[in-house]
Amino acid sequence: MKTRQLTPEDVPAAAAVLRSGGLLGIPTETVYGLGANGLDPAAVAAIFRAKGRPQDNPLILHIPCADWLEQYCVQVPPSAYALAERFWPGPLTMVLRRRAIVPDAVTAGLDTVGMRCPAHPVCRAILSAAGVPAAAPSGNTSGRPSPTTAAHMLEDMEGKIDAIVDGGPCQVGVESTIVDLTAAPPRLLRPGGVTLEQLQQVLGPVAVDPAVLRLMRAGEQPKAPGMKYRHYAPKAPVTVVRGEPGRSAAYIAAHLTADSGVICFDEYRDRFPGCNVEAIGPAGEAAEHARRVFDALRAFDRTPVTRIWAQCPPVEGIGLAVSNRLNKAAGFHIVDADLEE
Ligand code: AMP
Ligand code: MG
Repeated sequence: MKTRQLTPEDVPAAAAVLRSGGLLGIPTETVYGLGANGLDPAAVAAIFRAKGRPQDNPLILHIPCADWLEQYCVQVPPSAYALAERFWPGPLTMVLRRRAIVPDAVTAGLDTVGMRCPAHPVCRAILSAAGVPAAAPSGNTSGRPSPTTAAHMLEDMEGKIDAIVDGGPCQVGVESTIVDLTAAPPRLLRPGGVTLEQLQQVLGPVAVDPAVLRLMRAGEQPKAPGMKYRHYAPKAPVTVVRGEPGRSAAYIAAHLTADSGVICFDEYRDRFPGCNVEAIGPAGEAAEHARRVFDALRAFDRTPVTRIWAQCPPVEGIGLAVSNRLNKAAGFHIVDADLEE
C-alpha cells in the first residue's frame, strides 16, 4: 500500500481513514500513534499486524473529550473526573472498567480499558471529525523506540499504513502516564508527562508498579501485559549509568571503546572524543531529555556503534519517565557511578 502524507489541513481525509477502517499515523503531544477505529475489531487487528505487536498487549482508547468516557466505561470513580478536570486534555491514561462495546482486540481480553484524551489540537480535531474513538499504541515497530516525528514513524510504517498526518515534533516526547484507577490505592503503571507527584496531589497515595522500576521476575504476572516485553531498544545494547552527572560522565569516559555511542547531557558532550554522541539537553532539564530521548536512541541505528552508554536524570518529576524508558531500552542493565570506585 502507498502511505499518503497528510497535513493538519487534511483533517477530513484523516477522519475518513479512521471511519473506513484504515490505519492512520496520528500526531499527539506524547509520541506519534498508530490509530484505527477503536470500535472495529478488524481495523484494530490491523494495528497489531503493522507493528508486529504481541496480541496480549492492550491498546489505549483515545477520545476528544471527557464527556465520551461513560460510553466506553462503567463504574467510573469520582477520582477519574478529578484527574480529567486537572490533566485532560493531556498526557494521562486512566485504566477503568470497560463496557462490552469495547472490543476484546483493544483490551487484549481484560475487563479494563485504558482511556486518554490527547491535547494535540490536530489529534482532537481528527477524533471529533471521525466521531469514533481511536485505538492507538505508539507508531513504532514493536520493540523499537517510539516515534516523535512523522519522519521517524515513516521509517517504521511507510507502506504499512494508509496515511499519516504530520503535526510537527511531539511536545512531551515520551508516552502518556498510565494510572490504574481500578486498584486501591491507584497504581502507576507507566510514568510519563503527568508526574507521580502531580497524581499524588489529586489522588493522595499512589502505588508504583514494580515493573516501573525493575525487570519482571520469571513467573511474575504484570498488571499490564505490555510491561513484560523488551521495549524502546536500538539495535546496539544499552548500559545506563546513573548518579551525579560529573561522576556518570567520568565513568562512561573511562569505559569507552572506539565503537561506543554515548547519550549524555549537553555539558559533557566534549568528554567522549571520537564517539557518536547524542546530547539530550542540559543536566537538570528532564523535560528536554523527555523530548529528545527516543530520537537519540533511534539515531544510533543509523551509525555503526555496537554499544551505547547513557547518562540518566534523577527519578523525580518527568525524570522518572525518562529513566524508565532508558532503563527499559537497556533491559535494566544499570550501573550506579556514585557507588563505583
Ligand atoms: P503503547 O503506548 O504503545 O505502549 O501502548 C499502550 C500501553 O497501554 C501499553 O503499555 C499497554 O500495556 C497499556 N494499556 C492499555 N490498556 C491497558 C489496560 N486495560 N490495563 C493496563 N495497561 C493498559
Ligand atoms: Mg509503544
